[in-house]
Amino acid sequence: MPQVDEHLIDDDIDTSAWDGVPIRLRAAGLRWTPQRRTLVDVLREHQGHVTATELISRCRERDQTTTPSTVYRTLDVLEEFGLVAHGHGHDGREEYHVLPGETHGHLYCEACGRQWEIRPETGAAIVDALAADLGFEVDLSHVTISGHCQGCHD
Ligand SMILES: [Zn+2]
Ligand SMILES: [Zn+2]
Ligand SMILES: [Zn+2]
Repeated sequence: MPQVDEHLIDDDIDTSAWDGVPIRLRAAGLRWTPQRRTLVDVLREHQGHVTATELISRCRERDQTTTPSTVYRTLDVLEEFGLVAHGHGHDGREEYHVLPGETHGHLYCEACGRQWEIRPETGAAIVDALAADLGFEVDLSHVTISGHCQGCHD
């Protein structure tokens, strides 16, 4: 199983999706401000997972005037555009997938603190089983499943 550090994302990922953000923001009635530009620049250089706290501090390194509320509001809009997708870590804090690709779940070991991504095939088996049993449509990428890894439950 791949650990979270090795993402299921291609190295040659296409970042051109960010180019349309200023136009889409304006179409949504929002201004293209220096703070928003800084956030998009930070996201463009990022792959995989990032927490909002990390994003805010990286934006602040470039632009001292960045406020958390602007970052959160802009992330909400970028999520509507499909450019980021939020999930929750084992402690409930928000984590963002940048340019989310294939839906995948996350596992967290309560003993050693390591995290893994659930392979899409394995995730699909879980999702399909719950759909067949309860007709429930699970959003596996939204939560982190806690437990004990192979090395820790022996
Ligand atoms: Zn949520
Ligand atoms: Zn463990
Ligand atoms: Zn993930």
